[in-house]
Amino acid sequence: MTAAEIRQSFLDFFREKQHTIVPSASLLPQSPGLLFTNAGMNQFVPYFLGTDKAPYSPPRAADTQKCIRAGGKHNDLEDVGYDTYHHTMFEMLGNWSFGDYFKKEAIKWAWELVVERWGVPANRLYATVYAPDKAKGDPGEFDQEAWDLWAALFRGKGLDPRVHIVDGNVKDNFWMMGETGPCGPCSELHVDLTPEGDTHGELVNGDSDLCIEIWNLVFIQYNAEADGSFRDLPAKHIDTGMGFERACSLIQNTKGFTDFSNKPSNYATDVFTPIFRKLEELSGCKYVDIYPSPGADRSAFSEEMKTAIAFRVIADHLRTLSFSIADGILPGNNGRNYVLRRILRRAVRYGRQLGFSGEKPFFAELVPALVGQMGGVFPELKEREAAVRVTLEREEASFNETLDRGLKRFEDALPEVKDHTLSGEVSFELYDTFGFPIDLTELLCADRGIKVNMQRFEELMEQQRERARAAQKSSVVRALDISTEAVTEFVGFESDSCEATVLEVHEQ
Ligand code: ATP
Ligand code: MG
Ligand code: MG
Ligand code: MG
Repeated sequence: MTAAEIRQSFLDFFREKQHTIVPSASLLPQSPGLLFTNAGMNQFVPYFLGTDKAPYSPPRAADTQKCIRAGGKHNDLEDVGYDTYHHTMFEMLGNWSFGDYFKKEAIKWAWELVVERWGVPANRLYATVYAPDKAKGDPGEFDQEAWDLWAALFRGKGLDPRVHIVDGNVKDNFWMMGETGPCGPCSELHVDLTPEGDTHGELVNGDSDLCIEIWNLVFIQYNAEADGSFRDLPAKHIDTGMGFERACSLIQNTKGFTDFSNKPSNYATDVFTPIFRKLEELSGCKYVDIYPSPGADRSAFSEEMKTAIAFRVIADHLRTLSFSIADGILPGNNGRNYVLRRILRRAVRYGRQLGFSGEKPFFAELVPALVGQMGGVFPELKEREAAVRVTLEREEASFNETLDRGLKRFEDALPEVKDHTLSGEVSFELYDTFGFPIDLTELLCADRGIKVNMQRFEELMEQQRERARAAQKSSVVRALDISTEAVTEFVGFESDSCEATVLEVHEQ
């Protein structure tokens, strides 16, 4: 199955189970506390809280949701390029019940889709259930109901449930939206990807790319009260999330689950290959799907390894930037806008590894490959392709003006490094004069086995903020949010030409 067919097969499956298929919400989150939409459930929070009634009959929904996890509580940025299964932007497939079906159906259907329809061998599946540590005061009870439901399914395949059901702790298996509000235990499906498939659950939740978490089923049954207690909710809900790229990897990389000799990777799927092909054409480099072992010495990576990482980071970051811009979130100087600028600058720096000299922008050249792959499912990407390109070109061109001089400054500072730590002064100069986000400097340092003196850097940043506060009041710019047509307010710099450019494109 192609990626498009896999996505469709998920949605078709739940349509057959009487779910209304809804569009992905914008990456610009509705809740004020979030940087980006980071889970499928974000857009449904009012239904869980009971402040709104779900407008579906029966009250069930399914979708694919654009998610970004590059900041805040969920931040997977550092893993990108190094492992096979974390992206900054990914699609989360999900199905929901708003006070309708509960654990029995959610578990049965998850099994039916994964095992019966997709053909994942049951002996490679591991389900986790919530097992609180009462001595530590964990909320709720052991999820016997989920255990029994999974057990019946494993037994039906002649498998021992005591091996295939693994206890999960509060961190992995109890989901909370925040300090208070709807919450509950969850049960997750993991797939053993080792060649023999005989790990007996030992790798589950162990950060191993040979045992991947693919689907989280959350059973929203409590409300966390302000006094720390957990009250049973009158209506119980289902909230699930499956990593789409992980599902593609699983299905596409194992030749229909017959060959596990190669380590499956999300990057070896047609979600990424069109972007890699274009990147190969532009750079003249070749993508090889190789990965460093965890904790490996970065300063000793081969050129081939560095190139493989650069391909993955660039493709990942292209998706994050393009989808965000299409939803009206632009690179800028503050908050989520600055997260995007940082990510873009990281991508441009990785471009140097592939030989892009900075004379002309390369990043935006990849946009058509992405739009070709995704524009059918996410029409906003197609509609705003021009704006995405213009924004990326401008952003890259502006960073190219200082990147090489900054890199030279960094190299020149290396002989002065003491105690394997780059000084706060140099890091600040790189930030202030050359536009290097601090995480980019940290990345350059990590590649050489050194650290940044963050404390000193922060002091210098604070001093600069003081000076800025004294010198000028920041100006409030009102900008049109192109995704919702709503007017949003953000504090920005009027000299930031990038925002203005995109708005022009849209107003034409
Ligand atoms: P992990 O433990 O692998 O980081 P998670 O427990 O943080 O995943 P959930 O919050 O449970 O993830 O999200 C539901 C599903 O979304 C996961 O089971 C996984 O398949 C997928 N997912 C989560 N984070 C990412 C990511 N950064 N890139 C791709 N898919 C992801
Ligand atoms: Mg995670
Ligand atoms: Mg997890
Ligand atoms: Mg999870």
